[in-house]
Amino acid sequence: MVSKLRSLDEVQAIYDQGHRKFAENRVQDLLEKQRVLAEDIEWHLIGTLQTNKVKYIAPFIRLIHAVDDLSLWKEIHRQGLKWNRIIPCLLQIKIGTEMTKNGFIWDDLCATLEHEEWKSLTNAPIFGVMGMATFTEDHGQVRKEFKLLKSYFDTLSQVYFFRPEFKIISMGMSGDYKLAIEEGSTMVRIGSLIFE
Ligand SMILES: *Cc1c(COP(=O)(O)O)cnc(C)c1O
Repeated sequence: MVSKLRSLDEVQAIYDQGHRKFAENRVQDLLEKQRVLAEDIEWHLIGTLQTNKVKYIAPFIRLIHAVDDLSLWKEIHRQGLKWNRIIPCLLQIKIGTEMTKNGFIWDDLCATLEHEEWKSLTNAPIFGVMGMATFTEDHGQVRKEFKLLKSYFDTLSQVYFFRPEFKIISMGMSGDYKLAIEEGSTMVRIGSLIFE
């Protein structure tokens, strides 16, 4: 579940119900919670990650959802080596129309993957893709964007990522998770709905 903006007590209450996977979108908030909450929590980072902050989360992070450029990917690998950890990552791909939404532009991602360089980034393996649909009431558009991400995932799995661990499609939030699941999501990122 997405625990961003929630207090320690709120997260603890969900933990006490048995939940163990929590996601934050800011490194600072993630570190503050990780420091005090239980050690068996599986922390995910879902937001934009600056290259110079990878080192703070490298010792414990379990999945980084928003790898959106090669230098970030390289740094995660480097920190993985340093901490002797495999740090699973998702490639964030731009599917929404808002300028503010991050992610690789599809053509740029393909150009990046055409170079062999990424294949040596063994400590930052790619487990799948992540995308955020446009924030709109237009379900047709949201569905179209989720379909697009699913098709990107299928292409990547056929052309570049043949290994069985490439299997995650992280899409869907409180407002659009039903559509996302219908379109093939394997991991939804739900925050506000849990607290309503
Ligand atoms: C906040 C956030 C979510 C969860 O959003 P809700 O609408 O609260 O479910 C999911 N993904 C990302 C990247 C987020 O920043």
